Amino acid sequence: MLLGAIADDLTGATDLALMLARNGMKTVQYIGVPPEGADFGDAEAVVVALKSRTIAAGEAVELSLASARALLAGGVEQIVFKYCSTFDSTDEGNIGPVAEALLELLEAPIAVACSAFPAAGRSIYMGHLFVGQVLLSESPMKDHPLTPMHDANLVRVLQRQSQGKVGLVPLAVIEQGADAVRAALEAARQSGHRLMIADAVRDEDLRVLGAALEDARLITGGSGIAMGLPDNFRKQGRIGTTQLPVRMAAPAGRAVVLAGSCSVATQGQVAAAIAAGCPALRIVPLDIASNTQTAAAIAEWVIASAGGQPPLVYSTADAEAVKAVQQQLGRDRAGTLVEHLLAEVSVILRDRGFSRFIVAGGETSGAVVEALGARALQIGPEIAPGVPWTRSVGGADLALALKSGNFGAPDFFVTAWDMLDD
Ligand code: ADP
Repeated sequence: MLLGAIADDLTGATDLALMLARNGMKTVQYIGVPPEGADFGDAEAVVVALKSRTIAAGEAVELSLASARALLAGGVEQIVFKYCSTFDSTDEGNIGPVAEALLELLEAPIAVACSAFPAAGRSIYMGHLFVGQVLLSESPMKDHPLTPMHDANLVRVLQRQSQGKVGLVPLAVIEQGADAVRAALEAARQSGHRLMIADAVRDEDLRVLGAALEDARLITGGSGIAMGLPDNFRKQGRIGTTQLPVRMAAPAGRAVVLAGSCSVATQGQVAAAIAAGCPALRIVPLDIASNTQTAAAIAEWVIASAGGQPPLVYSTADAEAVKAVQQQLGRDRAGTLVEHLLAEVSVILRDRGFSRFIVAGGETSGAVVEALGARALQIGPEIAPGVPWTRSVGGADLALALKSGNFGAPDFFVTAWDMLDD
């Protein structure tokens, strides 16, 4: 095992595992902290998926440190701390506290923080994160139900969460190549910096960063930051090139889509699935709170929707509706109600013969997969950038597509099934 990663949510972990697998590393994804003495088989990279993005910072630190210790015991040389490409976090954490705790554990002097993912429209220039053509703070992320992002200056955002000094490796340095980046990091270390936001606007910038970080013990960022890392091991002759499959065998059983993301992309996918004729049931947080909508009743509706397209259960709503619900129930309670309900529905369906699930939403996927009891995931074919089909290892045999809210084309819920074989 060469590379270990800790991701702060499940779909982010899957996204990173796909990035490593696409770049030729044998990759396995673990769900939750790996148990002591975990057998990682012949994996060259292991990605641990936590659900630590929006929990208390202290708890996120503890889970991340426990994961890092398990990965180090498995022999990893380098650790990637993966968070969202839109830097999803609040001023209370958790990116800064976790990164600083990992620096200490690994006895590393400094780490890069780069969430850029140009292929998905996330670029960083002068420390400012752009989503497509607009600043993060003007993008739909300003309305995220749990981590609304109101500041696009990542140096400022990360500094508010960190004890140590946060600085910037500007694009002009990255364009000079890996040696210049290494020199800039050394100078930053000498001036007392602990975390460095790195600019990146093209894949090439991420590859330069990857090469510059060959010897780094800790690297933090989005899945893009891992793009250049497998090449370091390949140049050393320590890994080959494992090809990503183009189709996946799936266990027999029925299929369902569960959507708990309110992202603009998911709103479009829900609308497209309904337009394509998927039977669809909308979940309303206030109805869950008043017990008018229950997991048992929803599951019965899904089971009764036999034939045709796989049914869709969704809580997806636009920013205005989300705000209204949050004012009544509170942000966390509204989120938890929906997550628990969808998790409960998934368990009933699994017990009634459903084995193929598309789940939309990072937090939502975390809740559903935890309830389903999957312990590890094999990475299958890529449905959309950042989203593979996966098959669970340990627990029930399931085909799972876990979609981060922002990802995927409008027809995702309708066409993803085509890549599965019986
Ligand atoms: P994404 O990947 O788009 O960020 P997540 O699942 O991570 O999606 O986060 C969405 C959060 O919003 C979850 O906690 C979910 O339970 C909550 N949520 C879903 N639907 C609603 C709704 N209609 N009103 C309020 N909160 C909601």
